[in-house]
Amino acid sequence: MKNKKRAVSLISGGLDSLLSTKIIIDQGIHVEGINFFTGFCVEGHTHAIRKQKSDKPKRNNALWVAEQLGIKLHIIDVIEEYRDVLLNPKHGYGKNMNPCLDCKGFMVKKAKQWMESNNFDFIITGEVIGQRPMSQRKETMPIVQEESGADDLLLRPLCAKHLPTTKAEKEGWIDREKLLDFSGRTRKPQIDLAKKYGFDDYATPAGGCCFLTDKQYSNKLVDMWESRGKRDYQLDDLMMLKVGRHIRPNKRFKIIVAREEGEVKFLQGYRNQYANIYPTSCNGPLALIEGNPNQEDLRIATKIVARYSQGREEEKVNVEVKLTNGVVQKFSVQPFLAKEIEESWMV
Ligand code: SF4
Repeated sequence: MKNKKRAVSLISGGLDSLLSTKIIIDQGIHVEGINFFTGFCVEGHTHAIRKQKSDKPKRNNALWVAEQLGIKLHIIDVIEEYRDVLLNPKHGYGKNMNPCLDCKGFMVKKAKQWMESNNFDFIITGEVIGQRPMSQRKETMPIVQEESGADDLLLRPLCAKHLPTTKAEKEGWIDREKLLDFSGRTRKPQIDLAKKYGFDDYATPAGGCCFLTDKQYSNKLVDMWESRGKRDYQLDDLMMLKVGRHIRPNKRFKIIVAREEGEVKFLQGYRNQYANIYPTSCNGPLALIEGNPNQEDLRIATKIVARYSQGREEEKVNVEVKLTNGVVQKFSVQPFLAKEIEESWMV
């Protein structure tokens, strides 16, 4: 037991990290997981906020994976350090605002630091050659090793047979023959392996492990930077971008309209920070205002909120705007028709 080798595994909560970790545990290695919280993680947030699809389990998939594997998971907050990765990626962005290659290098580097301070022996990831166009290509695999400083301490069990031998294999801690040779975008080998292990309830995020691969989310992020004239953010900003309909009629302001009960509850928590709008003559959504709207802008905002209220067919809907200084303005407005909410306003 004393000489049992120890590996730290990057756990995103998806199938690949589940399988790669299982392969290494089965070789008698003590494995603990690390999950880095960048602020953009899909884990937990919108699913926990939104009430819809309440039949689906509201869970943190990284924790769930760790539980399935019976290992410890360390969730590490890297929000501050991650800012530089996102704002100044050396290798640029993927299809959206995802700096995947820099991000992978950053995470493996952090994992290496953790490994050293906790006396672990090597690092594992669930990467598969050819799986992702930006960070998981044959040419980029060595870049992650080099830039993270992990070099041959980094083992990718799912595609190890396509890659040079790592320290864990050279030292005989791991039997290379039992590692795999997955490659490409197909998910079939992973799905078959999951079946073999008896895992049938894993997460399958479409674009990747974070919101930065999502087109709509990336658009909202860029819109926020453009409207503020600077590229920066706080955690609250990132959370807000995950919630509600974002509608920007002009440069001065945008409104965030709750789409359902869970989002109303979430936005209610921000009512003291933001001016907010709510119908009073009928049921309807809460909306927050961001920016510096003038009086005409407020009228437009109230007509939008009236459109999404249960009074949308009425002549007039009464709507109140509570400003950040506590002053309440009352409006009686004709709801916009759907076609009057211009497509270009939807962020
Ligand atoms: S999808 Fe997000 S978390 Fe995953 S590597 Fe890309 S930027 Fe990083």
